[in-house]
Amino acid sequence: MHAGSNRRASNLFYQSGSRRPPVDRAEGIYIWAQDGRRWIDGSSGAMVVNIGHGNRNVLDAMKRQMERTTFAYRLHFENDAAEDLATRLCDLMPPGFDRVFFVSGGSEATESCIKLARQYAVATGQAGRYKVISRFPSYHGCTLGALAVTGYAALAAPFSPLMAAMPKIPAPTAYLDRDDLTPAGRGLRYADMLEAAIKAEGPETVLAFIMEPVGGASTGALVAPDSYYPRVREICDRYGVLLIHDEVMSGAGRTGKFLAGDHWPDGRPDLVALSKGLGSGYCPLGAMVAPDRIVAPVLAAGGFLHGFTYAGNPLASAAGLAVLDEMERGDMIGNAARMGAVLAARLEGLKARFPFIGDVRGKGLLLAAELVADPGTMEPLPARLNAYQRLVDIAYDKGLIIYSRRTRGGYEGDHVLVCPPLIITEAQV
Ligand code: PLP
Repeated sequence: MHAGSNRRASNLFYQSGSRRPPVDRAEGIYIWAQDGRRWIDGSSGAMVVNIGHGNRNVLDAMKRQMERTTFAYRLHFENDAAEDLATRLCDLMPPGFDRVFFVSGGSEATESCIKLARQYAVATGQAGRYKVISRFPSYHGCTLGALAVTGYAALAAPFSPLMAAMPKIPAPTAYLDRDDLTPAGRGLRYADMLEAAIKAEGPETVLAFIMEPVGGASTGALVAPDSYYPRVREICDRYGVLLIHDEVMSGAGRTGKFLAGDHWPDGRPDLVALSKGLGSGYCPLGAMVAPDRIVAPVLAAGGFLHGFTYAGNPLASAAGLAVLDEMERGDMIGNAARMGAVLAARLEGLKARFPFIGDVRGKGLLLAAELVADPGTMEPLPARLNAYQRLVDIAYDKGLIIYSRRTRGGYEGDHVLVCPPLIITEAQV
């Protein structure tokens, strides 16, 4: 024992050295620091706490599970909580999605999709397929596989020697375009970039295309024109490329449907990654959901060579099950659609007062406002202003938490995400 010799003011570190006040408690859309200050959690943490903080029924369900067991390893025991959550999840998914693989977070979920896709290709005699096309900007996670398909150069740069270089196409930032095309025409133009990339890479080498159906922090809730989604599906079908929807942020009701992809039923994916709202912050939880037609050949060929120790543990599963129950009981997904419309209209209304708001976009309660120097041309604010961080700091000082980024990659721009828990009321909006 060397008690004390390694002690610092804080032994903990995250991404940077900056510190925030210690949290005390949280309830509904509110969160308190130990010094008594209260905030509206206008970003649900990091777009996580979809059902709101401190939900009694979820806590009770977790307590009941904790009193029985918190961990039983899947090689030794089946567990009802994981079984029931998988069944419940499949009931919420589009037809055909009948297989669930649990993980503990978003990066694990996207990484699992990539690895299952690859093993499916190998198992079905398509071993030449390994390239995963993605978009820039985009964010799919921080583990090396997920990072390889993330379109955010600054995050990936130091690690590039450790990762395969994966092809990227521009995200469909049609709102920035000043051409003569209609929105539908722009959607098709962006989707056709996928076809061009597949052809350029050699279709027989392309395994999958991964996209966020409604963008998250990297793009500021980017929504493509409607024409984009079915065309992407069509192109993937034409070249035998698997379509992966990263719904880590957009899923679990956030956009006013269970999946963001449900807004475009003719653009359905082959694999879906979920996390964040699925556990709603009550427990680390994520999932890959897949159709049996993709899973069965992999299992038949010897099994999925992938798995995390904590996957499908009884406590996280019980939390997830209770979260889904609460979502349904409180019609939270419907509320996300209704309150999303109210909040979007209010944000839109702020444009008249604040000319630096250039675009308001998103779906349901996955909403963002882009900050610009000139809303006519959408010219970005100079990076040196750090506008996105300043706005977050001003809001924080006034008791409101929002989430912001300066997008780098493809184009530059500041945006703030406004994504409160799905239980928010009109008065709270
Ligand atoms: N994919 C998307 C779209 C995300 O927004 C995130 C996290 O923000 C991830 C993946 C990674 O999730 P995690 O941070 O839980 O690993």
